Amino acid sequence: MDLTLILTLSPSRDIPHSKASDLPDVFTSYRKSVEPLREAPRRVLPTPNRLLPQPPDVPSQSSPFSIPTSLDGIISALHKPITSAPFVKDEPSSIPPGTKSAHPFHGGSKAGHARIDHLIQSASMTNYKDTRNGLLGTDFSTKLSAWLALGCITARQIHHDLLAFEDGTDGGKWKDIEGYGKGENRGTAAVRFELLWRDYMRLCTAKFGPRLFQLSGFRNDDSYRWKMPSKAQPELEEMLTRFLNGTTGTGLIDASQRELFLTGYTSNRARQNVASFLSKHLGINWILGAEWYECLLVDYDVNNNWGNWQYVAGVGNDPRGEARVFNPIKQSFDYDSDGDYVKAWVPELRGLEDLQKIFQAWKMSDEEKKEHELEGQDMIEKPLKRIDFHVGRRGGGGGQYGGSSRGHQRHDKAGESGRGKGGGSFGARGGYRGRGRGDKGRGQARHGRMDKASHFD
Ligand SMILES: Cc1cc2nc3c(=O)[nH]c(=O)nc-3n(C[C@H](O)[C@H](O)[C@H](O)COP(=O)(O)OP(=O)(O)OC[C@H]3O[C@@H](n4cnc5c(N)ncnc54)[C@H](O)[C@@H]3O)c2cc1C
Repeated sequence: MDLTLILTLSPSRDIPHSKASDLPDVFTSYRKSVEPLREAPRRVLPTPNRLLPQPPDVPSQSSPFSIPTSLDGIISALHKPITSAPFVKDEPSSIPPGTKSAHPFHGGSKAGHARIDHLIQSASMTNYKDTRNGLLGTDFSTKLSAWLALGCITARQIHHDLLAFEDGTDGGKWKDIEGYGKGENRGTAAVRFELLWRDYMRLCTAKFGPRLFQLSGFRNDDSYRWKMPSKAQPELEEMLTRFLNGTTGTGLIDASQRELFLTGYTSNRARQNVASFLSKHLGINWILGAEWYECLLVDYDVNNNWGNWQYVAGVGNDPRGEARVFNPIKQSFDYDSDGDYVKAWVPELRGLEDLQKIFQAWKMSDEEKKEHELEGQDMIEKPLKRIDFHVGRRGGGGGQYGGSSRGHQRHDKAGESGRGKGGGSFGARGGYRGRGRGDKGRGQARHGRMDKASHFD
């Protein structure tokens, strides 16, 4: 496949990878090959003045399917799967009082372009680098993902609006905004960087094809015995249900899962933690998490969703693979330093003041449980995982369901591969062959090192 056919943001000039198979397995190598990114994207295509006619041979739907003929009919057909039966036992019922969706937007191209304009006008683009890891509010990150995923706007259009702002060629509309006419700034550069990730995930699909959906991932690594909930293992089924309905007992995970369920959106920081929690702390088949996101995300994109899930699960193209584990308690202290995000989405915990207990409610004493009327709740009495973290030191710990690492056995393929940073590619059997630092060997527990940095840091 000619890669230039599918590139969305980059590049206009020749790149060294003309075939999908030439794409580097590590994002950094790809990025370096297309930099300077600001000069790379192709021009925006003109808006077509008419839509192509419908193909003449659209087959009619056979019973029980039918195509609605009115807008109301379409809306009710779209609502049907989510209103006819609960998705999951004890699902969250409504947005908690006082909490607002981070993604209260309407669809359509006009609304997407208005959002880009708002982000530039409000200096959110300029400040993006400093705010992008936020958890609450509409403007900490661009929230452009849904419009991109649905084809309402394109990455190139975002890039060209940013260029007009940076070069001061917009006709003066944004002239009073910080950074106007002063070239690329930290914020606008960071937005382009993230959009390049989006491109890269798409290109990985071109390269790896069906491996996007395989448990062994792009790495073709089948060395882990993933836990698979089934009727025969009711304790695993319960674990999965509680992961889905946001009652794990780990505040950040529960807040994010409830937010996702009730609004269709949760931030990138939260997504990384949720994916890491399911795959690395609980050791459950990561595909179940990817499918859940596929059901619920308003910005669902096949490449970004499945590529990111396998990246975090350690079978995709993260050069640190299994060694990267997010400690959701440390992450809460770093990114939810007042506990506001957890309290917004897990209202049961609003009466608490001690952050340790907001982030891990099982740490409450019996008196505290009584005082806050929280006795007997599974998320407090039976947390899925006790991750013992204290400010100033790191720690791990066994969970309700046992085990401090992934908690599941792995096939032993020790010594099969090294790991490293920088350029490199997966070996024939999927093991990563990298340059630079290798990890200490694959026999190491899967969360040997906790979240030194995310792949976007
Ligand atoms: C487990 C997991 C699943 C994900 N599933 C999806 C998905 O289905 N659809 C989706 O669009 N994004 C997905 N992402 C990527 C990212 O979380 C979202 O793009 C981002 O949170 C959307 O919010 P935003 O537009 O405010 O992002 P911003 O931070 O404003 O980023 C700007 C744009 O850059 C792109 N981008 C940002 N982060 C990433 C990333 N990690 N990978 C690829 N592109 C990125 C998106 O197009 C985004 O709109 C997933 C990430 C994880 C960890």
